[in-house]
Amino acid sequence: MERETGLRPATAVVSAGRPEPRPGAPVNPPVTFASTFAADGDYVYGRSENPTWEPVEEILGALEGGEALLFASGMAAVAAAVDLVGHGATVVAPAGPYNGVHECLTEAADSGRFTVRWVDAADTAATIAALDGAHLLWLESPTNPLLELADIPALAPAARERGLIVICDNTFATPLLQRPLRDGVDVVVHSVSKYLAGHSAIVLGACVTAPTERGRELQAHLVRSRRLGGAIPGPMEAWLAALGIRTLAVRLERATRTAAVLAARLGRHPAVERVRYPGFGAIISIEVAGGADAADRACAAARLISRSTSLGGVETQWERRRRYPSEPHTTPDNLVRISVGIEDCEDLWADLARALDKRLAD
Ligand code: PLP
Repeated sequence: MERETGLRPATAVVSAGRPEPRPGAPVNPPVTFASTFAADGDYVYGRSENPTWEPVEEILGALEGGEALLFASGMAAVAAAVDLVGHGATVVAPAGPYNGVHECLTEAADSGRFTVRWVDAADTAATIAALDGAHLLWLESPTNPLLELADIPALAPAARERGLIVICDNTFATPLLQRPLRDGVDVVVHSVSKYLAGHSAIVLGACVTAPTERGRELQAHLVRSRRLGGAIPGPMEAWLAALGIRTLAVRLERATRTAAVLAARLGRHPAVERVRYPGFGAIISIEVAGGADAADRACAAARLISRSTSLGGVETQWERRRRYPSEPHTTPDNLVRISVGIEDCEDLWADLARALDKRLAD
């Protein structure tokens, strides 16, 4: 079923996935803890279905304009999506994607499962030139953490004309800022752990398929892969995600406004060599003058900003990405990714400026 509701996203995120408004019915959907259900009903076994998954799937489907399926984590959704192409497939992917995706595709290439053509996805002509004979185009836009943008409306149709499946990780932009299914993408992937759930409290993922014949075929594969792979969401996580996603529009609006201010100020700070900010969204990446040690010292000096991994929560976080051995080498050693939260902008700037000033004084 197509999930276009006709409502604007800031309304759909609040109103979709509610129980029927019968007198006395709860306004929020309840959580169902069940491994099994009485026979001959809509639900059979907890690895195949659980009513608690459905509100989030409805909300996300309405926002993306497709059919959503929750998975146990963003990486479980990535693994199921990558599995849509078989052994021996050729995959075209951006050279600097999220490190989990990079590791997953590198391992598949090393083991002979896939051939991977790494491309600069911001270079549309070069990416199109790499599509012939390939089976899957993987997009992530903006990329994590270089914040590079792919021209999705140009790349998706070019890939589909050549028979490729097109998948786009929409974790950073969220469906409020970008709707890849409308641009011809077949499957959108999310780490729901980030902006959608929004409170750094759960790990969850999702795939959303296009309302097309091909989308429905791919959805059937994904349903099977979730049931047989068993990477299912826990009911409590799904319920918390349903609660968190309701405030997505206001959280993102606030964080985005603050991020634009901070990005401009960071660009004028003497301890910052380069600011990457795509002009939308609430992630900023900076390169700290003085290299990796200076970047680590700055991160450790913040009092308000959390030095921790992940992004998309209400609290501002930052970290130097190359502290992970799995981070692709396309990421500069001194790059610090900042996920801007919903705190007061001036308090955040005071903390950032003090931490960066301290780096200059060291
Ligand atoms: N995709 C992107 C862009 C991410 O940033 C992440 C996690 O950071 C993932 C996928 C994986 O999501 P999860 O951590 O929920 O498995």
